[in-house]
Amino acid sequence: MELIFEKSHTGRGLSLLPASDVPEYVLPDEIIRTENPRLPEIAEVDLMRHYQELAERSFSPAKGLCPMGSCTMKYNPQVDELAAELPGFTQIHPLQPKHTTEGCREAEQLLRDYLCAYTGMDGISLQPAAGSHGELAGMLIMKGYHADCGELQRDKILVPDSAHGTNPASAAMAGFRIINIPSTGKGLVDLDALRAAAGEDTAGLMLTNPNTLGLFERDIREITGIVHEAGGLCYYDGANLNAILGAARPGDMGFDIVHLNLHKTFAAPHGGGGPGSGPVGFKEFLADYVPKHLTAFYGNFLVEMKALAYALTIGGDGAYPVAVNAVLNARYMMQQLSDIYVMAGEPCMHEFVISAANLKEECGVTAKDIVKALFDHRMHAPNMYFPLIVEEALMAEPSETESRETLDRAVRILREIYDLARTDPEYLKTAPHTTPVGRPDEVQAAVKPVLKYENRRD
Ligand SMILES: *Cc1c(COP(=O)(O)O)cnc(C)c1O
Repeated sequence: MELIFEKSHTGRGLSLLPASDVPEYVLPDEIIRTENPRLPEIAEVDLMRHYQELAERSFSPAKGLCPMGSCTMKYNPQVDELAAELPGFTQIHPLQPKHTTEGCREAEQLLRDYLCAYTGMDGISLQPAAGSHGELAGMLIMKGYHADCGELQRDKILVPDSAHGTNPASAAMAGFRIINIPSTGKGLVDLDALRAAAGEDTAGLMLTNPNTLGLFERDIREITGIVHEAGGLCYYDGANLNAILGAARPGDMGFDIVHLNLHKTFAAPHGGGGPGSGPVGFKEFLADYVPKHLTAFYGNFLVEMKALAYALTIGGDGAYPVAVNAVLNARYMMQQLSDIYVMAGEPCMHEFVISAANLKEECGVTAKDIVKALFDHRMHAPNMYFPLIVEEALMAEPSETESRETLDRAVRILREIYDLARTDPEYLKTAPHTTPVGRPDEVQAAVKPVLKYENRRD
């Protein structure tokens, strides 16, 4: 497929804008371009076809199941999109006089109230633009708090090895040192190791729950207790809140700070580069350290409005079925596959992790081969080679929005692939056979990445 720049013809174009009906303003010379920017020149019909073709070549929940563990690629109700598109929401500007945006700020407050109710927190900042951005904000809240208490020696964050990869990264970005806490054989936090690591230099704990094996930390009150006793604070990675929504609240488990991913749990699409929203919730005693309106004014406001529409739809009563179905769907799929595939830890919450290590050993078929074969069935891959603590990992999250029929089909496909691994491993090793792109050269892509378009016509 040609790039849009390759379809460009000088002088061709589209004139979408009407003639200006406001006085022209002449810009100062020093900020006027001397050369035109290099933009593709293309007729509207060709532009439309270009993006349509791109859309047809890509895959999304609009096309089929995307069981990407941790990422929560679920169906987002169209009505929430429509609500966020209301002109009263789309036509505001962050620098507008405050009295003209009262309605929007009231809507934000309503969302904060819902998120406080779902998480058991006292306050919520809607500023962070992603989950990992919320983590960074949370870490800086912790840092500010300890500094104010005169406890600057608290420079270490305890991170279980089953945490999401962004957790240690965010803590490091905030200037903390990371102490790795190992898991037990059952995939849960090793309490003895946690006790041994917690001390006067502990700033806090970052816990992903359910963890990246899809397991709920059973000793969660004990975990937060150990950290608090040592004088640290407890951070809850709530990106995957759909696993516990309406059933349990981080605030009740003893957590001081939590972040959520509105672009996972709360009806904004996830992927494609955003925009996202990763609100950070906090207990009252941390209110002074929370981000103020510094950069993004109101945060990613339209993502917030989608989340509000979703919260208003499910309300308090509808939240629990979200968690029930997220967990039920994952357990159902896991159960239907566990006689052949090796599972890492159970019972799972909203996601489960398959280890293909045995298939690799017995027939040379890797997690990657399985994933490539799924593409031939118009099914997106689970997350693969994550979490790092499981060999040949495939991490699957069917999500709460999929039907029994869709899950049954996915199970059938995964069982077929398992059989093929034993009877015709070569077929899997050369999959996919029907997609527009087969197996890109991943080694070349890693060692010699082509990251920018060179205009070949010059
Ligand atoms: C997705 C995810 C994150 C990071 O969220 P981004 O918006 O991608 O930065 C953090 N933790 C967990 C558990 C996640 O699933």
